[in-house]
Amino acid sequence: MAHKSKEHPPIGIDLGTTYSCVGVWQHDRVEIIANDQGNRTTPSCVAFTNTERHVGDAAKNQIDMNPTNTIFTVKRLIGRRFSDPSVQNDIKLWPFAVVKGPGDKPQIVVQHKGEEKKMYPEEISSMILSKMKEIAEAYLDCPVKNAVVTVPAYFNDAQRRATKDASAIAGLNVTRIMDEPTAAAVAYGFGKISSDSAEKKLFVFDLGGGTFDVSLLAVKNGVFEVKATAGDTHLGGEDFDDRLVNHFIDEFKRKYDEDISKSPKALRRLRSSCERAKRILSFSTHTTVEIESLYNGIDFTSNISQARFEELNMDLFKKCIELIERCLKDANTDKASVDFVVLVGGSTRIPKVQQLLSDFFDGRQISKGINPDEAVAYGATVQATILSGQGSKEVQDLVVLDVTPLSLGIEVVGGVMSVVVPRNTTIPTRQEKVFTTTRDNETNVCFEVYEGERAQTKDNYLVGEFDLSGIAPAPRGVPKFDVCFDIDANGILNVSAQDRTSGLRNNITVTNEEARLSSEVIGKIIRDAERYRAQDEECRRNYESKNSLEKYAYNMRNAMRNRNTTNTLSFTTKMMIEEAIQETLIWVDDNQFPDVSESESRMEELKRICAAIDYLQI
Ligand code: AMP
Repeated sequence: MAHKSKEHPPIGIDLGTTYSCVGVWQHDRVEIIANDQGNRTTPSCVAFTNTERHVGDAAKNQIDMNPTNTIFTVKRLIGRRFSDPSVQNDIKLWPFAVVKGPGDKPQIVVQHKGEEKKMYPEEISSMILSKMKEIAEAYLDCPVKNAVVTVPAYFNDAQRRATKDASAIAGLNVTRIMDEPTAAAVAYGFGKISSDSAEKKLFVFDLGGGTFDVSLLAVKNGVFEVKATAGDTHLGGEDFDDRLVNHFIDEFKRKYDEDISKSPKALRRLRSSCERAKRILSFSTHTTVEIESLYNGIDFTSNISQARFEELNMDLFKKCIELIERCLKDANTDKASVDFVVLVGGSTRIPKVQQLLSDFFDGRQISKGINPDEAVAYGATVQATILSGQGSKEVQDLVVLDVTPLSLGIEVVGGVMSVVVPRNTTIPTRQEKVFTTTRDNETNVCFEVYEGERAQTKDNYLVGEFDLSGIAPAPRGVPKFDVCFDIDANGILNVSAQDRTSGLRNNITVTNEEARLSSEVIGKIIRDAERYRAQDEECRRNYESKNSLEKYAYNMRNAMRNRNTTNTLSFTTKMMIEEAIQETLIWVDDNQFPDVSESESRMEELKRICAAIDYLQI
């Protein structure tokens, strides 16, 4: 199983809103790696307690007991401002606290080891990425450095940059930020249609836990090109869970005249049950939600049918179909010319979603060949392998072209958005446009760079701004500035401007710092991450030494119950050993988190006392 060459094999990571998945190229194919619990996807969840930090399954498993310090769906915060309406809406539903940090950045508040800590979303995401890195390293038995990390197609520049920052904090070198639908298309197309010389159209329908993306891709001679994308950064399985949660909150109010939404713990328990019920309703017509002592000692039991679940969510399902239409329209493509429909994301298991999709595509065969939870990590792994120059010729022959998910431009007079790079332009790209002054004798011009589809910049997203100063005074409209938008293969943008008359290019930098963390903050987070790793390691060692002490004590107790072992011992020795074992087992029970040195010294002492039977056993 170990990677023979020990040469830092690249990995592909699907950093999902609810679950994450990691893959590596081995034995000429993609291996999706199971975590230490044997699961091929890991909850994107981090929890803090008085004694330690948990990431993944361990964090999710303790969520009901520790709802205010268990952080999930942090992908909804990354690269966003605190004042963003979507952040404000999310906060209302989360049991953990989010506050406004410096520069309008959101910060998550947790209690860890008895202290209050404020963390940036990048920090939490980096903990999940570190976990994925560790899963790969444990499997490969060698260090991992390079990775392709995926993001939803609709992530803007700030969100992509923040994801890159999170990866850097986790000690990963991101060789490419890849769009999730492109990764899924690569997973589906690879080895099937990738080498066809006739162009095939592939539609990716990705409905995960928190985001929805649809994309139309053209595949020909191994080249994947995204023709158009659409989606909603706030639509997915968790919204379906919310609908169920609200349904049961209402029912509880009706039945018991009590409002459970006031209790984060009750809400969290209800949400977990709703998610389970939703999954069951994908293959059963009805199920029961049963929660003991949900609120004020009231046991809650209720039934929910598949039909009711569908009705509660029908507007959301229909929204998905509307977004498909928008994507096809953008690509100037008729649905009849789509050759394959690929399902990605756990929520595509919902029968009603599949049925609506199949109806929309007039009964076209919908591909379910690849596990929808793993397709994105699979494609990311193929891309990571291509970029590293490793893998077979078939892999190296693949080319993946991405597009800009949103239009990019500059604000001109009247707050109008002047588009420089239209939406769905294939990247990498470099586009230039000429701008001028709007007032007489301007010597300083401010360029505001926006992202979005609306005509007015106030409705779009400000990516950054910069000044060009020292321009010779002239009547308005006379100076000419060549503005250049440069987008690299990761979708990361650089904008520059040059005054044609003077040739001035001074002081021109695209500042996205407002949405990004400063290098000092990143440095501090990296140091904290190292501290956390050290603390996790200490916790592990503490547990291990306590565990070996406990095991040894039980072994000795079993040995004492065996007459052959004890026959040769004197009564006093027997009493002494039994007492020491008993005392050790009580100590183990009373000390949940003993220090490694305490366990070791107890072990030494117990071994000394039990030496007689230890010797006899040998
Ligand atoms: P993903 O982010 O792609 O891993 O998708 C996770 C989402 O899929 C979560 O909201 C899950 O509740 C949801 N999901 C997983 N399995 C099922 C299922 N059998 N039926 C409905 N939803 C599911």
